[in-house]
Amino acid sequence: MTKKTIENKQISIMDLLIESHIGLERQGPGSPEATIKALSFLDALAADSRVADLGCGTGGQTRTLAQHIKGSIVGVDLFPAFIDVFNERAKKHNLQDRVRGIVGSMENLPFKKEEFDVIWSEGAIDNIGFEKGVRYWNSFLKKGGYLAVTSPAWFTAGHIAEVDAFWRDAGSCLDSVEDTISILQKSGYSFVAAFALPENCWTDNYFTPRMDAEKTLLEKYAGNKIVVDYIENNKHEMDLYKKYKQHYGYVFYIGRKIS
Ligand code: SAH
Repeated sequence: MTKKTIENKQISIMDLLIESHIGLERQGPGSPEATIKALSFLDALAADSRVADLGCGTGGQTRTLAQHIKGSIVGVDLFPAFIDVFNERAKKHNLQDRVRGIVGSMENLPFKKEEFDVIWSEGAIDNIGFEKGVRYWNSFLKKGGYLAVTSPAWFTAGHIAEVDAFWRDAGSCLDSVEDTISILQKSGYSFVAAFALPENCWTDNYFTPRMDAEKTLLEKYAGNKIVVDYIENNKHEMDLYKKYKQHYGYVFYIGRKIS
């Protein structure tokens, strides 16, 4: 492809999502502290323990995990570009012997039944739906293995239409913490713990670095309406969070496979 055709090509939202997120430490709300807190509810892992990190992105949480456990981790993500960065960063942190990223879908995992001691997933399960995800992933866990996932939830009873509409438009939805725990319990897990991610997981660790990346996009694609609309939609997400953060957020759920 010549340079001219690249310049003329319509940029897609998917391209923009990748371009604005690939350089970030995280592709969604989270923090090393929250990852470590979730890990504290699990029994200690051994050197031969196996962990799958589904929807791993470029692996911010994977590296935190690797630095706090023994055992190996395989990260799975749909986007090859994220997996390339994932593997480069694992190497940079000298974790390449225990941490490996592969391209794949968390709905169609290339693993054997009961292969894993832990299934981890931050900021990703709602792309396929919490219930569908935890049911499908259960078969890949050993008995007694742990599931640790974050998923968006309502903290209060009165659902806010604007927030609901935003998440639905993004192909996701929020559920109450009680209903989510009940789904977990009906899907082959005992409930271990749940806690909400603090505000800095959204603001300092996600929105702020994403805004910096968007400035670069705006300069690169000056005047491009698709880019302007994409950034406007992200701004809407931040405005909603600022306004309604006491009503919703991400919750870390930890469960243990019983059957
Ligand atoms: N866990 C990372 C990334 C969260 S963003 C973090 O917390 O920073 C959600 C990630 O899920 C993206 O990298 C996206 O590419 C990935 N994803 C979405 N749907 C997927 C699917 N069906 N299978 C695998 N990965 C998926």
